[in-house]
Amino acid sequence: MFPDFEQELKKIEAQHLRRHLRIVESPADTTITIEGRELISMASNNYLGLANHPAVKQAAIEAIEQWGVGAGAARLISGTMRPHQQLEDDLAHFKQVEAALTFGTGYSTNLGLIPSLIDQGGLILADRYCHASLIEACRLSKTKFRVFHHNDVEHLEKLLKKRVGPCPTLVVTEGVFSMDGDLAPLPDLFKLCQDNDATLVIDDAHGTGVMGKNGRGTVEHFGLNPKDLIQMGTLSKAIGTSGGYVAGKAALKEYLINTSKAFIYTTAQPPAIAVATSAALKIIQTDSERRQRLWDNRNYLYSELNDMGFHLTNTQSPILPIIVRSPETALKMSQALYEASIYVPAIRPPTVPKNSSRLRLTVSSEHSNDQLEKVIKAFGIVKKKFLHLNKNSTGAHVSID
Ligand code: PMP
Repeated sequence: MFPDFEQELKKIEAQHLRRHLRIVESPADTTITIEGRELISMASNNYLGLANHPAVKQAAIEAIEQWGVGAGAARLISGTMRPHQQLEDDLAHFKQVEAALTFGTGYSTNLGLIPSLIDQGGLILADRYCHASLIEACRLSKTKFRVFHHNDVEHLEKLLKKRVGPCPTLVVTEGVFSMDGDLAPLPDLFKLCQDNDATLVIDDAHGTGVMGKNGRGTVEHFGLNPKDLIQMGTLSKAIGTSGGYVAGKAALKEYLINTSKAFIYTTAQPPAIAVATSAALKIIQTDSERRQRLWDNRNYLYSELNDMGFHLTNTQSPILPIIVRSPETALKMSQALYEASIYVPAIRPPTVPKNSSRLRLTVSSEHSNDQLEKVIKAFGIVKKKFLHLNKNSTGAHVSID
């Protein structure tokens, strides 16, 4: 007996939570084409424009000629080709750690990492706002799992103090939170972990390439020693390609090669993607102006939206979420922007907590001034159109209920 899919979908629809695929007819860029309409995209994690960068594309094209398309086997069988090893060396160098190990996606990296680190008889404490892949990974581990309030070091400390007897413990957080754009208080978390014999695991999906003087991520931003903790990240955001990685000690890499199911039982990443990723890493490390442009764009758009009175989160990154609370309003605003040729997705539960639906803009180094001006103008129009829905407005914030 199948569940009644139609009925279930109707229920989702009634709550304004139904999701649809939108077909994009163009490469990941600051302008994209959907349904024949050219839109300015504020909806991509391609923070540095590397997904469609000529040198990254050329590296992939040449690698396909040399290595073919598929790896043909899992990494431990015959799927570890020279480009995979090269990329892992490049990532370790970039992250300034002993070793890195790549996985098929960022999502599977988390599933492959956490249950291998801790399986039974321990404790995992994860920030409440951690990405779905981290939460799934924590659940997949057969150990005790609790969440702490978002970025609440005191709450985390309370949970750590509750332990009785020796108990292997992981503390799991994101560096830059994907839906709020704020940063984890990494120095405080790190100290707490050290004082309480716990290991800090950081998902730096949105920090890598973006944060820190050299783009090495949130760990660099806060001046922590990357050798003292475990990091994972995705290759799919600022780096512009696809896949994920763990960066840390050489022994950790060897251990994961031997124990991580999401690493062992899956086909290796296509070798051309590994080559393209190495090319992208080279650009990140040599073209710091690109990161500067990203931050200039981000700061400009942030201050304009803030001055207009929109209720932005406590973001400190190129992720600019505007809280509008109701999923229906978020959808309507997203649609109004779409009609003004600006693509900003409405993010609704269960991706974010109830009553915190939002418009989530992501900025790229490649947005031109002209594009940003058009976005600001469209938000001005949308604000006027939707302000009347804000019954409780004090005038301080456009926090549209
Ligand atoms: N972690 C975080 C914090 C993310 O935002 C994402 C992607 N949205 C992932 C992991 C998964 O990465 P990928 O898309 O490469 O599978």
